[in-house]
Amino acid sequence: MTFHYRDGTFATDTSAFTLLLAAFAYEAKPVIAVWFSCGAASAVAAKLTIERYGATHDVRLLNNFVLEEDGDNRRFLREVSEWLGYPVEQVAHPDYPNCSAVEIFDLRKFMSSPKGAPCTMLLKRGARQHWEQTHDVAWHVMGFTAEEEDRHDNFILTERDNLLPVLIDAGLTKQDCFDICLAAGLTLPRMYLWGYPNANCVGCVKVNSPTYWNHVRRVHPEVFAARAEQSRRLGVRLVRVRGAGKGERTRIFLDELSPDYVGGPMKSLKMPDCGIFCEEKPRFKLINSSGTYRKALWPTYLSAMRAAA
Ligand code: SF4
Repeated sequence: MTFHYRDGTFATDTSAFTLLLAAFAYEAKPVIAVWFSCGAASAVAAKLTIERYGATHDVRLLNNFVLEEDGDNRRFLREVSEWLGYPVEQVAHPDYPNCSAVEIFDLRKFMSSPKGAPCTMLLKRGARQHWEQTHDVAWHVMGFTAEEEDRHDNFILTERDNLLPVLIDAGLTKQDCFDICLAAGLTLPRMYLWGYPNANCVGCVKVNSPTYWNHVRRVHPEVFAARAEQSRRLGVRLVRVRGAGKGERTRIFLDELSPDYVGGPMKSLKMPDCGIFCEEKPRFKLINSSGTYRKALWPTYLSAMRAAA
């Protein structure tokens, strides 16, 4: 066996003592954790990461399974794994092996609030943080696309600053990612075909748009009914509709939402792929409203981070 050292030398001696020394001196490649969410953007992010860093880094493709996702997401995961020639590893919170958001809502007696959702905290962020405790991660990759640069900036300010913005650097939009997947012969998850903006859980509790919920009611009436029952039982008003006054918004229960209510168009929903969306914290507040802080310092900071990768 040959062991490569940091200084470029290597060992071929297989005596027990040498192997022991070599094991201590062996320099593993730095790990890049690519969080694949079964969406088109994170699939392309994984491809770019492997192309760019696969030779110099240990690229790991990771997925947080959530039971409430559509089953076709698993088929897409397998296709992407074959396309890239890399396994996709499952990362779950050990305390919640069923990976069920619905189960967590009942356990926590809580579904969603402006500050987040318990499925996010436990099945996504909690699982990731648990994985990080046992793996030394140099960089993370998520599927932030070119039009989501502000989300990316917010994420590195509020959550992790060791993020590689591979899609943003390449200038790839969400549509570009769809096109790349289709050109590669992949069949996108059927959630997109059903008119959802992403492949997130069906009936995602972080969305308060009445347009979204009426779409769920039409396409997945059984999920709509289940969320309506659970949210009423737990006292959670999941939908935000126009209030009586100008510009006013009010929260209502799902079972109070009229099937005829017309909200904003589905495509205007700011709702990226599950991994990002679930982990996102409320927007970071700039020091002043003109954004002077970020405009002045951010590009320098970002290029330093990218250069170090
Ligand atoms: S997609 Fe929505 S419901 Fe599913 S885990 Fe993320 S925040 Fe929770």
